[in-house]
Amino acid sequence: MDVSGLVVAPGFIDAHTHSDTAAIDGAEGRLDTAQVSASVVQGVTTEIAGNCGQSVFPGRYSGLAALSRAHTTSAIGRVNHLASLIGHGTVRAAVVGLSARAASASEITRMAAVVDEALAGGAVGFSTGLIYTPGSYADTAEVTALARVAARHGKPYVTHLRNEMAGVEGALEEAIAIARNSGAALHVSHHKTAGKFAWGRTEVTLARLAGLRDAGMDVTCDVYPYTAGSTALGAMLPPWAHDGGPARLLERLRDAGQRDLLRKAIAEGVPGWENTVGNGGWDRIVVAGAPRHAGYQGRTIADLAGSAGVDALDLVAELLLDEDGDVTIISHSMREDDVRRVLAAPFAMVGSDGVPKPGLPHPRWAGSFARVLGHYAREVGLFGLPEAVRKMTGAPAARFGLPDRGVLRDGAHADLVVFDAARISDRATFAEPLLPPTGVRLVVVGGSVVVRDGVVTKARPGRVLAC
Ligand SMILES: [Zn+2]
Repeated sequence: MDVSGLVVAPGFIDAHTHSDTAAIDGAEGRLDTAQVSASVVQGVTTEIAGNCGQSVFPGRYSGLAALSRAHTTSAIGRVNHLASLIGHGTVRAAVVGLSARAASASEITRMAAVVDEALAGGAVGFSTGLIYTPGSYADTAEVTALARVAARHGKPYVTHLRNEMAGVEGALEEAIAIARNSGAALHVSHHKTAGKFAWGRTEVTLARLAGLRDAGMDVTCDVYPYTAGSTALGAMLPPWAHDGGPARLLERLRDAGQRDLLRKAIAEGVPGWENTVGNGGWDRIVVAGAPRHAGYQGRTIADLAGSAGVDALDLVAELLLDEDGDVTIISHSMREDDVRRVLAAPFAMVGSDGVPKPGLPHPRWAGSFARVLGHYAREVGLFGLPEAVRKMTGAPAARFGLPDRGVLRDGAHADLVVFDAARISDRATFAEPLLPPTGVRLVVVGGSVVVRDGVVTKARPGRVLAC
């Protein structure tokens, strides 16, 4: 094929996704083709899933045994490859349950055995999401004990820090202590210093990470190229609201007295809790996915509450009740200089943090890779093209131990992307989050062409990679 004038690069490796179930959601009609393939049409040939403490694998523990079996036997027919971390929250839910309590010594031993089995079976690292229940109920010692298992396998401790806002520096120190005391390499997920009290603090956190690297510690991070984050609406509520699991949360939301306590917790804070809304406001929280309230999507909680003439917390409670707790939000919480500083750090790699869901999801799922290459490398000049490509190929391959990927050479896997460096650009926006990029000509997975000029072919060469 004629690729003159174009760039041939190793296929991109998305260091951080929540696409664990996207392929089967597509096969069973819960997601459409654009939603499932937003990643691969940018040139992503491998996705790292199981992030933020939540993993489908091992299915026996996540309650998704049939799904994980369908994945591993290739019954689904994947377009690109998927590798997974083993998620702490998934393991804790299976062993300890959903209650707000410390794990006993014997429970920690049982969790360690599950983590060990998953890592031996091919999981590429151990992840935590310490703002999400039930992971947030764990103390530092519990996480350290489990990270020690990852260290034994030579695999990284990958963490969504306990706090990415006003308490980010303390949360980073906890992660560093866990890595030091366990012996595992440290990978900080979607590094950010969000909320008005933490803006500008990447100057401190990145210097800290750089210092550790200079001292010989194996420390890396990933980042997505946007000033907004995205998560579940329920994550805006304090950990005690989730004590006992989703059904107990909904019960509390029906109770006027409990709503008053939630209002108070958000206004005054709770020790050890990140409190996104207290660090910003309901005017920065936009509804992204609420299947029964399509008209809410794209509007802020403050705006919706104002129009309805109700208090924001009451609107949130009613919305969560109507949607059985399943509402996704976008949080406009970061500053551009922080995003650029993290992107430019030599130890930062690109991870979309994409969450393939219906509605108006965050454009990062469909835009991150093209945005780094087009906007940040070519237009802003934050770094050159080779460095941009390294951040999405060789760097994540090394971090997650994917042999013969992320490189272009004889004998390596033929996962490739061909793009026009002068034209590649993201088009996904908050209003139109799934618009595919321009400038990507060809995507090859395992030697088969899977995308040609933006169109997904019928080839399904993708595999679950066990490393
Ligand atoms: Zn996360």
